[in-house]
Amino acid sequence: MTSQGTLPAYLRSLLTADLPNGWLYLPHGELDETTVCLFIPSDDVDEDEDATANKAAELGFPIEGLDNQTMQDVALGAVRLDPHANDALLVRAFAYYHRFDAFLPSIDASDPPGPEQALLKMDRDFYESLGPETLELRCRREGCDRGTVRLSVFCQKHHFEMVRRRPCPFE
Ligand SMILES: [Zn+2]
Repeated sequence: MTSQGTLPAYLRSLLTADLPNGWLYLPHGELDETTVCLFIPSDDVDEDEDATANKAAELGFPIEGLDNQTMQDVALGAVRLDPHANDALLVRAFAYYHRFDAFLPSIDASDPPGPEQALLKMDRDFYESLGPETLELRCRREGCDRGTVRLSVFCQKHHFEMVRRRPCPFE
């Protein structure tokens, strides 16, 4: 039997009982404690999965959520962060997994960095790993009056640009 209920109610029920295997479908829009979802047990899934998705969409739940095994892990993960996890935390843990395919790492975790921020962090780590410049030798790049980093004839910035072959975002 397909059923409808609020998202936190589903997550909470998975903490105390096993639902039959199945999938949760979501409405459009931001998820919060009042979001109503549709649960379709595997037994009710048509051979053709698209037909099931279409059926869910017709009922107003066009977004494929998570299967109940994963939802149970998500709910247990939230309770591990806070034994008295409230509805907001359960929903946040669900939304985080749904969006980023990862368990919420901490109660106040911010969203994981996108590819651009990840690259910038990698660049910064590399830049900083070059260490301080010694002023005994001048950077060999023309017009640069900085010193050199260890095992290089360039300063941090110009060593970075030689290795990465693009402008250095740091000074
Ligand atoms: Zn330089």
